[in-house]
Amino acid sequence: MTLLDRRNHHLFQPLLYQVATGGLSPANIASPLRTILKRQKNARVLFAEATDIDVANRRVVLSDGEVSYDTLIVATGAHQHYFGHDEWERVAPGLKTIEDATRIRRRVLVAFEAAERESDPDELRAWLTFVIIGGGPTGVELAGALAEIAHETFKRDFRSINPAEAQILLLQRPDRILPTYPPTLSAKAEASLARLGVTVRTGGVVTDVRPHFVSVRFGERDESIYSHTVLWTAGVQASPLGRNLATAIGAEADRAGRVVVEADLSLPDHSEIFVIGDLASFSHQTGALCRALQRWRCSRGDTWGIS
Ligand SMILES: Cc1cc2nc3c(=O)[nH]c(=O)nc-3n(C[C@H](O)[C@H](O)[C@H](O)COP(=O)(O)OP(=O)(O)OC[C@H]3O[C@@H](n4cnc5c(N)ncnc54)[C@H](O)[C@@H]3O)c2cc1C
Repeated sequence: MTLLDRRNHHLFQPLLYQVATGGLSPANIASPLRTILKRQKNARVLFAEATDIDVANRRVVLSDGEVSYDTLIVATGAHQHYFGHDEWERVAPGLKTIEDATRIRRRVLVAFEAAERESDPDELRAWLTFVIIGGGPTGVELAGALAEIAHETFKRDFRSINPAEAQILLLQRPDRILPTYPPTLSAKAEASLARLGVTVRTGGVVTDVRPHFVSVRFGERDESIYSHTVLWTAGVQASPLGRNLATAIGAEADRAGRVVVEADLSLPDHSEIFVIGDLASFSHQTGALCRALQRWRCSRGDTWGIS
């Protein structure tokens, strides 16, 4: 068995928000693949980037070579999606990798430090305004964790500013946060965030993201929100390898680029290839897409499980 990855570590993404807000260090949520598999004598780990799959010749094409296979499992996951505005990525980092989390942590800490030294009231407000774009599970977690550090962790750490006066704004285009969950859970989550000091604003379309402000259209009205710290949790796109693979074998990929798989996760007419995890579009049990946060429900088919 060969495990190929362009990173040398496994990452537990559900706790990335804790690294992004200083609660955990990167080593707490990432482990070297070689360490994980060191007792698995029939497994080898290759540090390599897959660029394509040569289905006809049963080879994975790498950026610097190739590896042949009898059975292939593709699990290259998903990355942030900026809906055609890749330039926003520099200004508003997403939260998918350790590098993203440490980048966000640096921005958040620098914002409080800059606020401590700021005398201009408008600039001070911009340093203490944190905008999170996207009210799915990641945005909700991140907003809650930011509110906790502003209200609790930093409570006694500054002299010129009161960190609790930080404004944490969660912008969500649909009319409720956590739209893939039942409305009652969205309402409970919004109430919890309000208790933590997070302001949720729904129904706004983000039209521009610049280093010092975000433009949002609410109905007919355009609004600029001044902030030096904007974070992006609004969308994901499957790894491009999925679409390449689907095109090569004439399989279907959904709008987010996930490969539509058979009930056993194999690909149509290719029982030697399986696609799993975030790269797979699987809807055989409930008729609806089985998302990561709903896996428990997909497997039991009867109840909502939130991890
Ligand atoms: C902030 C955050 C919080 C989350 N919280 C939860 C939660 O609470 N509960 C839950 O169930 N899910 C949660 N998820 C989702 C969960 O983490 C994902 O569903 C899960 O990681 C998907 O696993 P995967 O193996 O499909 O993809 P990934 O974990 O993304 O792994 C993909 C791997 O493929 C490698 N790779 C990608 N492209 C290539 C290439 N071309 N060549 C070689 N290697 C490549 C990457 O380096 C990576 O190691 C969360 C996700 C995030 C980002």
